[in-house]
Parts: sequence; C-alpha cells; structure tokens
Amino acid sequence: MKPLHLDTPLLRAAPGLFPQAEVWLKMDALQPSGSFKLRGVGRLVQEAAAEGVREIVCASGGNAGFAAAYAARALGMAVTIVLPETSSPAVAEKIAARGASVLRHGAAFDEANAFAIALAAERGARHVHPFDHPLLWKGHSTLIDEVLAEGVEFDAVITAVGGGGLYCGIVQGLQRHGLNEVPVIALETLGADSLSRSLQAGEAVTLPAITSIATSLGARRVAAEALRLAQSHPTLSLTVSDRDATQACVRFADAMRVMVEPACGAALAALSVHEATLARFKRPLIEVCGGIAVSTAMLATWTMSA
Ligand SMILES: *Cc1c(COP(=O)(O)O)cnc(C)c1O
Repeated sequence: MKPLHLDTPLLRAAPGLFPQAEVWLKMDALQPSGSFKLRGVGRLVQEAAAEGVREIVCASGGNAGFAAAYAARALGMAVTIVLPETSSPAVAEKIAARGASVLRHGAAFDEANAFAIALAAERGARHVHPFDHPLLWKGHSTLIDEVLAEGVEFDAVITAVGGGGLYCGIVQGLQRHGLNEVPVIALETLGADSLSRSLQAGEAVTLPAITSIATSLGARRVAAEALRLAQSHPTLSLTVSDRDATQACVRFADAMRVMVEPACGAALAALSVHEATLARFKRPLIEVCGGIAVSTAMLATWTMSA
C-alpha cells in the first residue's frame, strides 16, 4: 500500500539559525496536511479503508483532524472531525474546506475525544486517536527511516511532545534501526508540559488545564507508552515559554521561508534556549513537525511582541 504522506526534504539549517553549525531539519511542515500527522493518521485511515470501513471520526485540536480529513477524502471515505470549543474558527474552516463535517463538543480534547468515540460506535465508523495507537506510532516512525535512507548521521533527535505519539514513533524508528543510544530531546511549552511533569513525578500526571498557546501540545495527559519509553530510552525532557516558541517560529520563517505553528516552535527554540545543556550535540536532527495554526497575520503579531 502506497502511503498517503510524502517523503519530506531533509535540509541543513541556514547558517546562524542555531548555535550548532550542523543542524538537520526534517521538513514535515511540507506534508500536504501541513504537519507530520499524516504519517500516522494516514496509516490508520488506510487500514480502516482496507477493512471496509466507510467513515472516520477523529477528535483533534486541529492538525490530526486536518490530516484525517485529507486521508479520508483521498480514499473516498466520509469523515467527521470533533473539535473542542476552544479550537480556533480558522482551523475549523480549514478542516471543513477539506470536505469534513466539523462538530464542536467539550471544553478540551478529552471531552471531544470521548464524544468522538461514542459517535463512531453509534455510526459504525472508525475512531482515529490523534496520539495513542501502535499503528499511528508505526506511521510516524517512517520519518526516521527516511532520514537514515539519506545516509545522514545525527547524534540526537529534537521533537515537540503533545500526547507523545510523535515521540513514540521517533523512539520506535530509532530502536528498529539499532539506534538505542541516540537521545531524543522532548520539548514542551510551559502550560502544556504533561510529559515533563510526569517524568518529575515518576508517574503519569494529568494537568488540571492547558495554559499554553501551543494548543497542538495540549494533551492534559500523555499516552502511557510515551511515559514508558521516556523512562527507558535516553530522553531529555525540556520546556520553553510560549514566547520562546513564537520567536522561534518568526526566526525560522525568516531563515527557512516556511511558516510553522508554536507547537513546532517549541522544538525549534530548544538549541538556543537550552544552549548550555545541548552544546554536547554536534549534529542534531530537528523534526520540523509543522502545523496549520499559523498565518502571516499571526507571525506579524509575534514579530511585534518580540
Ligand atoms: C500533534 C502535534 C504535535 C504533538 O504530537 P503528539 O503526537 O501529540 O505528541 C506537535 N506539533 C504539531 C504541529 C502537531 O500537530
């Protein structure tokens, strides 16, 4: 089965963008769905189609829903996306424009997801989870296969973490290729730092609320597998502020001419904000996870607040 996602470019970062001279960028912002989510979500939707399922239901803060809408329409399936009431009208419009029915339910992702599960069961549709499913992680892990196929060497992988699906895929990909010693640097914004807090507590922590603007990182609790892997695979969990993340989006747009949302900005901010801690990594790979919740107007606002 040919995957729905693209083999995205692997670029060297523009000189001066990061403290390190050699930084590799896996440009998943260039996926047709605007983010890496198509890797795993596309895989789940293809599997459902092969089983004869005719309709997809997905709860999402935005990018998973956009990827599910893209994948379902590419395969001629019906698709319903359940957004929490907090998600922006612009994102809802972008998803609806892809031919999905968009519903709003619940104050946050958890409520929207519970509703999506019930709705899928009622309609005989397939529920697609945005971050907690083994086949989804397998789909995400293809990004590591692609980087290795280019023969590029890296000594760490830097990624943003929301519910931890992308992180699980990256660790899975590394381990499949025997790279069990390559650390993963897991970035969250303060206010969406459910992995960081869980690692500090030594057990899964549920945040009372999400207070970061990086809504794509807004899982109040990470997948159990993400916490398990973060406790066994070499992992450095770090946080940045919302402002660090938005400033990183602006610098990245100027240097690489590509717009990404603050969730991705969290990963892009790591090397500068945590320069001393990360100086030992000479050839880091950054997963440029992308995101559709960005516009020239938003970048202009973030530029003015610099
Ligand atoms: C979903 C998403 C994340 C977080 O991925 P998880 O699998 O939930 O950890 C980060 N950045 C962007 C742009 C996303 O869409």
